[in-house]
Amino acid sequence: MWIVPEAAIGDLVSKEASFDAVEAVFGAMARGDAYNFPVIREAIGHADALYGFKSGFDRAALNLGLKSGGYWPGNEAKGLTNHQSTVFLFDADTGKAEAVIGGNLLTALRTAAASAVSIKHLARADAKVLGMVGAGHQSAFQMRAAVAQRDFDKVIGWNFHPEMLSRLADTAAELGLPFEAVELDRLGAEADVIITITSSFDPILMSGQVKDGTHIACMGTDTVGKQEVDAALVARARVFTDEVAQSVTLGEAQHAVAAGLIGAGDIAQIGAVINGDHPGRGSAEEVTLFDGTGVGLQDLAVARAVLETAKERGVAIEVDF
Ligand code: NAD
Repeated sequence: MWIVPEAAIGDLVSKEASFDAVEAVFGAMARGDAYNFPVIREAIGHADALYGFKSGFDRAALNLGLKSGGYWPGNEAKGLTNHQSTVFLFDADTGKAEAVIGGNLLTALRTAAASAVSIKHLARADAKVLGMVGAGHQSAFQMRAAVAQRDFDKVIGWNFHPEMLSRLADTAAELGLPFEAVELDRLGAEADVIITITSSFDPILMSGQVKDGTHIACMGTDTVGKQEVDAALVARARVFTDEVAQSVTLGEAQHAVAAGLIGAGDIAQIGAVINGDHPGRGSAEEVTLFDGTGVGLQDLAVARAVLETAKERGVAIEVDF
């Protein structure tokens, strides 16, 4: 069995490799070659922790495994990140444990890759202004992945906690792009692509604030009750997702579905667009919305890419197990 420690991951995976792995597995999901198993997530009644696992199997890539982990709110005081993830891969032919791979950095990279894939396939080709709603840990990864997809000439951003906006300014500077903190009205009026990546439980961005032709990647809503945009915006947009079953129950679309504004049949898999089986954006004026709920197969796909690179470079640790 192979071990790839968390500390080694940064040198082993690029955002390009993450993008390719996530795009491929979304395509496999839409073809029916890969499927996710039901997600488990439990409050364990200790350390205020939420623990769970996401798992799945990609029959085409023979990638079988799970990501285990969750959220331990007291970790920061111990010098650890609150989110803790570990990926386990298994040999699809024998069920034997194949690898244990640190999953913290991979989670951020695979989540950023998902919105980047949606931008590649759904945003207007002439998109110039990137709007960021959210300035937490994930936001920097999101911005870095997004700017590779279009010729953006500036980034504008808003955050519920304005003191965190420096993260967006610093990341834009690292990418050589000007950054401006703006109110939501301006963000919606100017941005051609918007990424929302917050832990909000109330709508932040309203349909009336968003101009026609925008592509929105809603990436923060991954739990029942969370919400980043109003249901009217979801109903107005052509909606795509990683997995429809998650989108309607715990993704951004849950509220529009519960209100009866849209149904599961109105939501397309992004993989169908990747495979050329769905046209994607219907017109330059249409608002497109990607509901990125986060699936286990994304984790397995990037973990597999890391494992192969780690073995090639002699960085993976082999143990008799
Ligand atoms: P973080 O704790 O570092 O940042 C939280 C962000 O949410 C900040 O921008 C904060 O200002 C904002 N926020 C907090 N409370 C808010 C409120 N009441 N109203 C509006 N904004 C509020 O978190 P992070 O690691 O950057 O993750 C952000 C979100 O992304 C979380 O909800 C997380 O669960 C989700 N996430 C989704 C996926 C996926 O695959 N879709 C993957 C990883 C994380």
